[in-house]
Amino acid sequence: MRNLSIVIGRNIENRPTRLSTTTYSRRKKATTVGRSFRAPARRRRASIMAKKGQKGPGKPFLEWCAENGKRGERVANEFREELPTKLTKGSKYKAKWKCLKCKHVWRAKMFSRTRSDKPRGCPKCAHNAPASKKDNFLTWCEKNGERGKKLSREYVDKDKPPTELTYASNYKAKWKCSNVECKHEWRAAVNNRTRSHKPTGCPKCANHMPSKTNNLLMWCEKNGERGKKLSLEYVDKDKPPTAVTYGSDYKALWKCAECDHEWLATLKQRTKTSYPNVCPACKAR
Ligand SMILES: [Zn+2]
Ligand SMILES: [Zn+2]
Ligand SMILES: [Zn+2]
Repeated sequence: MRNLSIVIGRNIENRPTRLSTTTYSRRKKATTVGRSFRAPARRRRASIMAKKGQKGPGKPFLEWCAENGKRGERVANEFREELPTKLTKGSKYKAKWKCLKCKHVWRAKMFSRTRSDKPRGCPKCAHNAPASKKDNFLTWCEKNGERGKKLSREYVDKDKPPTELTYASNYKAKWKCSNVECKHEWRAAVNNRTRSHKPTGCPKCANHMPSKTNNLLMWCEKNGERGKKLSLEYVDKDKPPTAVTYGSDYKALWKCAECDHEWLATLKQRTKTSYPNVCPACKAR
């Protein structure tokens, strides 16, 4: 293990060269003039972090940095908080980081940067990273089970093969909804679809707002015998069939064309392809 003070010292020493002169003088002022009030602020933050349990498990952050060679040095230099004496490598604290390569500033949890499995780097650099044979959108899909399968099926962009971009790309690719009743085509950034937090899907399927072209009646007209039957059995008085979409969660009133039985079911339950809802009276017979 290398001496911890080396990394800390280098960390502070290196900073001025990467800062503009105004930022640096402001910083310098803060460190020289403001020593007396900076310390309590740091203590205050440390106590807040302790309260929230953000101090975290594992060894102290800087100790981890010192033990992890070039990678540790880089992470330590990208760290843009007060010196993190209380923080550990496993902390959930959302710290501020500044990319050494592109100068982008972002926030990320401590542990997301130090973990051994899929550590996070600068998101901006990730967007712009070139795809390789081993690391591209297609290989990402192959590694991501059902979700990956769906995305690779829906990717229909002719201009760029899926092996030419990464999963984090900002490229607005063309997609085609894999829902056979939708087949809607739209454009969305690859990153918007692959991200783990709130990824986007087919806007048409997500859109439960009925329109002139997207409503139950239109759907029935396009769906042959099945559509005819459903439009006949739809007897809801509160909403006309043009005011609801086929994928809606609205519980509508239906009247069986066979036995006149009336029951409630959502539009989605009745129009879906596999195991659609049918008249419960006829089903019981
Ligand atoms: Zn970057
Ligand atoms: Zn769709
Ligand atoms: Zn019936």
